[in-house]
Amino acid sequence: MSKFVYMFDEGNSEMKELLGGKGANLAEMIRIGLPVPYGFTISTEVCSSYYQAGKSIPVEIKSQIVDALSKLEEKTGKKLGDTTNPLLVSVRSGAVFSMPGMMDTVLNLGMNDETVKGLAELTNNPRFAYDSYRRFIQMFSDVVLGVDGFYFEQALEEAREQKGYSSDPEMTSDDWQEVIQGYKEIVKKHTRKDFPQNPIEQLFLSVNAVFDSWNNQRAIVYRRLQKIPGHLGTAVNIQSMVFGNMGNDSGTGVAFTRNPSSGERRLYGEYLINAQGEDVVAGIRTPQPISTLQDEMPEVYQQFVETCQLLERHYQDMQDIEFTVERGKLFILQTRNGKRTAQAAIRIAVELVEEQTISKKEAILRVDPDQLNQLLHRRIDDSYKRNPLTKGLPASPGAATGLVVFDADTAEALAKDGKKVILVRPETTPDDIHGIVAAEATLTSRGGMTSHAAVVARGMGKACICGCETLNIDLKLKQFKVGDTIVNQGDIITVDGSTGEIMLDEVPMIEPQLSDEFQLLLAWADQEKTLDVRANADNPEDAKKALEFGAAGIGLCRTEHMFMDATRIPIVQDMILAETYEEREDALKKLLPMQQGDFEGIFEAMQGNPVTIRLLDPPLHEFLPDKEELLVEVTKLRMSGSNPYELKEKEQLLRKVRQLHEFNPMLGHRGCRLGMIHPEIYIMQAKAIFYAIANVKEKGIDVKPEIMIPLVGHVNELKEMRALVTKAGLQVAEETRQQYDYSIGTMIEIPRAALTADQIAQEADFFSFGTNDLTQTTFGYSRDDAEGKFLQNYIQNKVLPENPFATLDQEGVGKLVETGVKLGRQTKPGLKTGICGEHGGEKNSIQFCHDVGLDYVSCSPYRVPLARLAAAQATI
Ligand code: PEP
Ligand code: MG
Repeated sequence: MSKFVYMFDEGNSEMKELLGGKGANLAEMIRIGLPVPYGFTISTEVCSSYYQAGKSIPVEIKSQIVDALSKLEEKTGKKLGDTTNPLLVSVRSGAVFSMPGMMDTVLNLGMNDETVKGLAELTNNPRFAYDSYRRFIQMFSDVVLGVDGFYFEQALEEAREQKGYSSDPEMTSDDWQEVIQGYKEIVKKHTRKDFPQNPIEQLFLSVNAVFDSWNNQRAIVYRRLQKIPGHLGTAVNIQSMVFGNMGNDSGTGVAFTRNPSSGERRLYGEYLINAQGEDVVAGIRTPQPISTLQDEMPEVYQQFVETCQLLERHYQDMQDIEFTVERGKLFILQTRNGKRTAQAAIRIAVELVEEQTISKKEAILRVDPDQLNQLLHRRIDDSYKRNPLTKGLPASPGAATGLVVFDADTAEALAKDGKKVILVRPETTPDDIHGIVAAEATLTSRGGMTSHAAVVARGMGKACICGCETLNIDLKLKQFKVGDTIVNQGDIITVDGSTGEIMLDEVPMIEPQLSDEFQLLLAWADQEKTLDVRANADNPEDAKKALEFGAAGIGLCRTEHMFMDATRIPIVQDMILAETYEEREDALKKLLPMQQGDFEGIFEAMQGNPVTIRLLDPPLHEFLPDKEELLVEVTKLRMSGSNPYELKEKEQLLRKVRQLHEFNPMLGHRGCRLGMIHPEIYIMQAKAIFYAIANVKEKGIDVKPEIMIPLVGHVNELKEMRALVTKAGLQVAEETRQQYDYSIGTMIEIPRAALTADQIAQEADFFSFGTNDLTQTTFGYSRDDAEGKFLQNYIQNKVLPENPFATLDQEGVGKLVETGVKLGRQTKPGLKTGICGEHGGEKNSIQFCHDVGLDYVSCSPYRVPLARLAAAQATI
């Protein structure tokens, strides 16, 4: 029979899939001789069996668990349920990919009316024993029996008030016994049963609860966000308890071997004296910084520092370590690669290379390209003189402005309406996750930098400020006070997660810059990658930004954006409305120098790097007013009869709008079909390009233009458009007495183009896959409507694994790309190929582009660094 349960000394760090991250690392720490409380792991496979068996653990697995328990009892010399020397255990989840705080945990299991007496005697500390028992009832009832923790909190608060205490440490053993009595009554009232006294029953119920928590709401949301597959399941770790709540020589804490926010190489963490682990992570008491442990327990601190160094060396990465001190003795309860911000990820990766711990290639792999977005966020202008209202702990960097909101549901609802919000809570719990996702930033008045939501916020790259104790939050009134200042729900504040400062109103922000470490990592990436990374840009500012971020050229300059300018729209409309050839030529003559100026600006900005200019693509009606609005205006003018001249103009416009109306405009008269029917438009654009080249070259700046024809479906379209552009080129050459060096290529955006790419390549110097349209035309989904109408439903119900407009559908659209490249290169070996749809800036799609042998990807300037890194990762 297969093995489903592993003692800690039977595993190692390679066994993550089977033992989960926590189980594998606990086993590894035992293997390298660290002080880890002993225990065993129920494998992730059992989670599937549990669900398959209708949420129960099959008998043969149960007997393996009982066997493992006997071994644990033997090793510790204690027995579960024993009245003189009771074994107490923790029951914790442990998924393959860490999901901090998303699943359930039960501590102090094994406590009952008898063992509590044993523990009191054994430790000679009744207060501790009864405190542990009441904690167990509280946690077990909440997690396993489903009795809301609120009832226990309330009972405890009442008990404290009655005694006139202000905090828990004042409670005596007798007080706790009274509280326990009250707790039991709460359990009886809500479950109609007595609190379970049998430790084995407690154990199996807890294991079930941990498996159940794999599918709780917050775990599901977290998995969706982090793209963790739902079938993996969680392991369960049963570990003998050590106690941080045995007095002032005990404590518990969490530490990172480097700062998870900035990456600085310094031990970073916090702890609480006389407390259990949950007190630190739950953010209920604000803990002490780890450095003060040095004064309180110098020997333990020294041992802890050495252990941290050892663990970091062993795992060759920054570690997130949970520890407990029981009566002056250090125990390590968990280690894992710590979650970190992008800024920290980069700094740590670069410094680990400098410390000769990892290779440059490994460093490239250590940073998730998706995280880089965070670094390209705006921050508060350095020249702005700050006048912060107050300050908390800088838990996750980045600046954000938004409306103050006091609960996660409202944050989510407002964000759906397009509002930017800052979630303000007394403390953050995993139940707030949907609010943290929706908010620009999270702000709490209690809890430390390692509280759950702070960890989550960092993982998501959202700004977060924690433990801002001067913030007096009143959830009922939906307001917070700082001194005399009152901030209500809906007021605007700005937070700076890098400094912890909170400011009233909006403050000026500046554009991001790349740090030295980031530049260095990207330089290493450039050495590895074989794909070029270009940018989609259609103005000189974006072109400059693209160069600054390391783009090797422009892969798509959409010329329609140049037509949309408010001062140009009337001329564009004249061009569209022209009744005669002369009228149209007139409008085009006005547009030509404007376009020429645009191109000159971009060519200059790009300093000799290639620039791909696409001729006009959208249907002409996009430049005209909305039909319905126009109809209203015409009707009003007709009724008033006051302005016959304007009426005539508007009527003419309406006629044209009606004439241009199409039922499927995205499949309509657009792309090269415009050039085919209105060649004068493309001729004007081509000439503007050539004149621009001449002028820029005259200034001594090199230009590498590539002219691109959109939406080609048949080789004859490209043949005609190529002839048109070439002829315009010859005309300008003659006029300016200059030679022009340029290429003409096409976008591949229609399945027919990909399937006949061998023919199309005869007329093309390059291909650029327009995967936005290619996705639209391959799936037959309207790119403007699908997401709002049915695509979200498809994704949620797993009809499609992902949004194909965001991540390239490799099986379908990708097959067309692959076919297009292959057929194109059959005709022209070495044909240059690239991609300029949105997918050019998405890491998985970039991997695909690398694999099918494209020469470049092109994406928005802000995604260029991401694409450089992803292109390097694709080669490793
Ligand atoms: C595309 O279709 O992928 C593309 C880049 O062109 P546009 O998005 O402008 O249609
Ligand atoms: Mg397109």
